[in-house]
Amino acid sequence: MTYLFNTPICRYRYLNNNLYIKREDFIPFSFGGNKARKAFYFLEEIKKKKANYIVTYGSVSSNHCRVAANLAAFLKLPCLIITPVENDHISYNKKLTELLGAKRIFCKVTDVKETIDRTLSDLYHDGFYPYFIPGGGHGNLGTQAYVDCFQEIIDYEQKQNVYFPYVFFASGTGTTQAGLICGNLLNSKKIMNFHRQIIGISIARKKEYGISVIKKSICDYLESMEKKELIEKCQNSIVFLDEYIKKGYDQTDDEIDKLIVSIFKQFSIPLDRTYTGKAFSGMTHYILNNKLTDQNILFIHTGGTPLFFDFLEGLH
Ligand SMILES: *Cc1c(COP(=O)(O)O)cnc(C)c1O
Repeated sequence: MTYLFNTPICRYRYLNNNLYIKREDFIPFSFGGNKARKAFYFLEEIKKKKANYIVTYGSVSSNHCRVAANLAAFLKLPCLIITPVENDHISYNKKLTELLGAKRIFCKVTDVKETIDRTLSDLYHDGFYPYFIPGGGHGNLGTQAYVDCFQEIIDYEQKQNVYFPYVFFASGTGTTQAGLICGNLLNSKKIMNFHRQIIGISIARKKEYGISVIKKSICDYLESMEKKELIEKCQNSIVFLDEYIKKGYDQTDDEIDKLIVSIFKQFSIPLDRTYTGKAFSGMTHYILNNKLTDQNILFIHTGGTPLFFDFLEGLH
């Protein structure tokens, strides 16, 4: 099971480098983004298992929950979303999930696991076969989605005769990053991929925890593919930068806001405060701090278009 979307890669000049931007926000489902790419893999599983209820977890502004609600509507299945009550606020993703008919259960952040377990067992009890999509589309299926995305990147490199020594993107649960790293490892025989820097800009997690989760995702995936021998090759080379988190998930500052406006004007590309804006800002600092010039740099735009409109609403 492989989906090749071949999302466009466009080239720009940025800070004296060639900046290529891969538009995952153009994936043709539910405003696109990395959660939409992952959703196609969950779609297969849901059909295979003949599930008749979708349950997932995430915040009110979550892109993943919007996509899961859209997937449920597409399959004509009911959808329940478990959300920590701590981060309830108005957002376009919230409005969209409501429009799509998904129901929400709020719980304390400390009660999430228990609430998920109880919800699933209640549904079984009522005669449903629920399918639980892990928060953020985390797990081997989500990893597979970004192994396949990496294949698109390699195909592009070969066709265009270009090589990306630096790949930047927003890293949350790290599933996207794990997939990109595995894709790179699985292709390392064909091209010299070991020097490639796959740089996740953390949007919330501190380095130590973030890296441990990415490592676990990589191990789980490679084990499932019976490629355990590749694990050691990436053990100490995971780059997950936590210096651009600002005050935490969803937290921004003036610098990021200005950058979002400037990138929209210059390149007509919408970024957001939570993910892509933070990642773009992190990349900008990295380029300047490391004095990169005339490099071929790839930025993966991981989506989140509705959050761009939240950003607009927040402007005075
Ligand atoms: C969820 C999300 C991410 C982070 O993806 P992970 O696979 O969880 O690391 C990045 N960008 C956007 C727009 C997202 O919605």
